[in-house]
Amino acid sequence: MPTSLATRLAAIHPSATLAMSARAAEMRGRGIDVFAFGVGEPDFEPPAYVLDAAKKAIEEKKSSKYTAVTGIAPLKEAICAASARRRGVTPSPANVTVSVGAKHALFNLALALYDPGDEVVIPAPYWVSYPEQVRIVGAEPVIVETEEENGWRMTPASLDKALTKKTKAVILCTPSNPTGTAYGERELRALLEVLEPHDAWLIVDEIYAELVYDGFKNFSVATIAREMKRISDRTILVDGVSKSYAMTGWRIGWSIAPKEVAKACDVVQGQSTTNPSAVAQHAALAALTGPQDEVEKMRAIFEKRRNAMVGGLASLPGVKCRKPEGAFYAFADVRGLYGLEHAGKVIENDHDVAMFLLDQAHVASVGGGPFGAPGYVRFSYATSEERIAAGVASMRRAIENAKRAKPA
Ligand code: PMP
Ligand code: GLU
Repeated sequence: MPTSLATRLAAIHPSATLAMSARAAEMRGRGIDVFAFGVGEPDFEPPAYVLDAAKKAIEEKKSSKYTAVTGIAPLKEAICAASARRRGVTPSPANVTVSVGAKHALFNLALALYDPGDEVVIPAPYWVSYPEQVRIVGAEPVIVETEEENGWRMTPASLDKALTKKTKAVILCTPSNPTGTAYGERELRALLEVLEPHDAWLIVDEIYAELVYDGFKNFSVATIAREMKRISDRTILVDGVSKSYAMTGWRIGWSIAPKEVAKACDVVQGQSTTNPSAVAQHAALAALTGPQDEVEKMRAIFEKRRNAMVGGLASLPGVKCRKPEGAFYAFADVRGLYGLEHAGKVIENDHDVAMFLLDQAHVASVGGGPFGAPGYVRFSYATSEERIAAGVASMRRAIENAKRAKPA
């Protein structure tokens, strides 16, 4: 039918994280006080110097016109300097594409790199958008299962098994959304050794790299790749200001890629969004070049919140929760809640649990299914310790008041 939707959409799921966000917003609109453990979005405002820089950019008329497609020169230089400072690599501005968020940077890469039939290896649990972006361009996500007992880390053996002649890329996220798992240097090195003989891109999403806890030292893949020429020519880093500077609404992310890939992203972006918003680029520039102690302050607060959320969840009847190394998510095993009754039905999967918690405890969360981890529910702890404590208490009441239809 000429008026039908594109067939490529048939296999695409809408973003589950954003769907929960919309649902919680709709409940709030009805006057319900919903605990915001759903979407992964810091509750902080960006540092004041970021907002001041944005105002100044408007006053100085630096924000009214198109900029270069891949970003203003000072921002690209600041991204290179930040990479040197934080990741131990020194890219040049020609490697950098500034985009409308890291999600957009990943989408540019999907359009620039994957052909129909290509395979893209993604360890599960994964951030919801990775496989969907791969599918949108007709490529095929190859999901590698991991074990909670192994800290949800992909092992070299399982990566090896997943790689084929059709593998075009491997996407790694560390620290991970949704599990909070961060890979240590030894683990990364072992994965890179497996990947080295294969002619595939390595895309590493480091958007949570500043948010690690208990003294964990984040180790950038880029640092290891530098010593492995065959890998460094194929490594692409994705990052942004959304998480570490609490700037989700400003929509600035970027990729750092070999020049031919950066050029391809320039072409793709030049035919889709053009440049990311000019004023947001000035705000991101201030974020990266201003005093960095605000980032550390937010990190320290997230660490306390992690302890509160993980401790709280683990104390609930029927819930188990691993303590993650980074990001701002607790990923809880909720299979012990299966068999409870909710809305005239028996709870039998993670989606039912998330709906039960939303209706009965007014807690927004996201079921593990869309992250490739049935049986689990993700709770974002990017909200105050008071709200975390109250939300956990509300979940406890809901669980204790629920009838059990059958044993877990
Ligand atoms: N990568 C990961 C792992 C994420 O959790 C997110 C969350 N939004 C993004 C990328 C995209 O971030 P943004 O588009 O806000 O920069
Ligand atoms: N990455 C965040 C999350 O997973 C924000 C929502 C999104 O972009 O998916 O909740």
